[in-house]
Amino acid sequence: MSARAELRDLVRQIRTEIEWAQRIGIVIDPPREMPVEAAPKPPPKPRASTPTPPPRTTPPPPPMQRPSGPPSPEAMAAREAARAAVFGLANNATPPPRIEPDRDFKPSFDRGSTPVPTRLPMSRLETPLPATPLPPPPPEPPSLEAVRADLGDCTRCKLHKTRKNIVFGVGNPNAELMFIGEGPGADEDIQGEPFVGDAGALLTKMIEAMGFKRSDVYIANIVKCRPPNNRDPEPDEIDACEPFLRAQIATVKPRIIVTLGKPASHLLLRTNQPITSLRGNWSRYLDIPVMPTFHPAYILREPAQKRPVWNDLQAVVRALGRSLPERGGG
Ligand code: SF4
Repeated sequence: MSARAELRDLVRQIRTEIEWAQRIGIVIDPPREMPVEAAPKPPPKPRASTPTPPPRTTPPPPPMQRPSGPPSPEAMAAREAARAAVFGLANNATPPPRIEPDRDFKPSFDRGSTPVPTRLPMSRLETPLPATPLPPPPPEPPSLEAVRADLGDCTRCKLHKTRKNIVFGVGNPNAELMFIGEGPGADEDIQGEPFVGDAGALLTKMIEAMGFKRSDVYIANIVKCRPPNNRDPEPDEIDACEPFLRAQIATVKPRIIVTLGKPASHLLLRTNQPITSLRGNWSRYLDIPVMPTFHPAYILREPAQKRPVWNDLQAVVRALGRSLPERGGG
């Protein structure tokens, strides 16, 4: 198609658009500078004597068809000029910006899983929180002197009737290792200090073999008065005296406790298992590791038990992260 034919086709399209614009109420002026095909000159008026020729009929225009090929530059320019004339846009006017759809937009009623912030009612914000009293701080453990003063000249159980001295305890008040026996013997009752007889001498040797001095550890018994004839303490006697042992443990805060013999092991571990099955097996008193072992007095009677006891004490040394002295006991 020639450029002239394209231009003619565009003129037809523009006219059609103008007609449609006028039909829908858009009042526009026709393009003034639109290139229009020159109208044919009217034929000269015939003379009177000349018969009138039949009216010339103009064939209907062919249906509008889009050009098959790309429009020429002239046709494009004419198209834009015609659109500007139809829709009132100047040639250099900036077209309105194109509004891109927001693909992520969701209506307020479809927020999916997005949490919707909620507002606390003002009544709650303005109401002061009820004052919750803080729990009282845990009481500090009393000093060993205070525990001893509380014990006083104790008559809480029947053992007070036969005792000579109350055997409270001895050693470092900040010891990391604590030994607990069952009760004072005859020598302890006389001197007022635990483990000072033959059994006490053996215990001192074992302590030193572990790399400690006797004054480094703390030594106590579950009852502070000597049971008659070196018998085991009875339950009512233990019940009466145990609070003072608990106070001693709470004050010293040892890292490890070694229970010596059956009564002390049964009391702290709350068990009736034979000492032969308890010995050498770690247990706990509250949160403190406990190593049960035989009483030194038993070792004096059964020297063959010295080796397993020494094995138990070596385990204690390792648990404390210490090393045995070069010439450890055996
Ligand atoms: S054994 Fe304990 S409770 Fe009993 S009289 Fe002696 S100190 Fe008091």
